Amino acid sequence: MRESWIDRFAESPDVLKRARCQQTVVSVQHLKIGGGEFVTMAGPCSVETELQLMATAHRVCSAGASILRGGAFKPRSSPYAFQGHGLKGLKMLAKAREATGLAIVTEVMSKDDVPLVAKYADILQIGTRNMENYPLLEAAARSGRPVLLKRGMVATLAEWLRSAQLILDNGNPNVILCERGIRTFETATRNTFDVSAIALLKQISHLPVIADPSHASGVRDLVPALARIAVAAGADGMIVEVHPKPDEAWSDGDQSLDFAGFDEMMFDLYPWIALRAMVLRNPEHWRLSPGVPSRETAQVRVMESVG
Ligand code: PEP
Ligand code: MN
Repeated sequence: MRESWIDRFAESPDVLKRARCQQTVVSVQHLKIGGGEFVTMAGPCSVETELQLMATAHRVCSAGASILRGGAFKPRSSPYAFQGHGLKGLKMLAKAREATGLAIVTEVMSKDDVPLVAKYADILQIGTRNMENYPLLEAAARSGRPVLLKRGMVATLAEWLRSAQLILDNGNPNVILCERGIRTFETATRNTFDVSAIALLKQISHLPVIADPSHASGVRDLVPALARIAVAAGADGMIVEVHPKPDEAWSDGDQSLDFAGFDEMMFDLYPWIALRAMVLRNPEHWRLSPGVPSRETAQVRVMESVG
């Protein structure tokens, strides 16, 4: 690893790769996040009704998702918007897990709610607005549940990793980093998907890294393309918003895929995931494929081109 990365991220030494820890694998039920498979978490932004959640859970499960997302405690831009069903929402999530076998990821917003949310969730989500809420991070860490740590919308990588370090310091090694887009001068998309953050983190950190193409773009038409980019950048998975009727969603409808859209995205993504797995498994094989120049041929071409 570059010396300069070690200096830059000096405040979070335990998050960086080292000889005895190249990759953390977070186990959730039978799943291994960071274990080489691309793991998909999908579901509505907010848990609204039992019908909405159950229908979504069954559909994303059959399309290849293995974790159900859904907010019971919702951080909203306006305090007057729907704030989530709280305990009632958590109970609906637990019912959906029972019906489908999907693991549950859901957000916790306050340290006082950690024991309650940890009772129902398999993974605790820390949202972008709470990335630097240190009492919450400490409580989430001590719950013993894996923590999905979203990047603050204006946080640098060093600040983000510092928060991950705090979770590790509190005795919880099971941290999943989630790039969900950052605020930039661009307003055509809701946020700017920082794909270089994923590439960089995959080089320097042993923690699993996932992408959130829904919040990163804010526009459902862009979600499949960002998901493909996440696969190519080396992400360990993604978290995506899906709703039976996005135009009627209580939150984040514009960026939610409908069922057909989610099916199509998963179907189209499969060859990219398979290709990545094949290349990683046997890089030399691809160098010998027809049409791909061997290293030697490429070198000769470079020599010829420089005369
Ligand atoms: C969400 O996942 O619905 C959410 C609110 O995410 P973020 O914290 O990234 O905005
Ligand atoms: Mn959302």
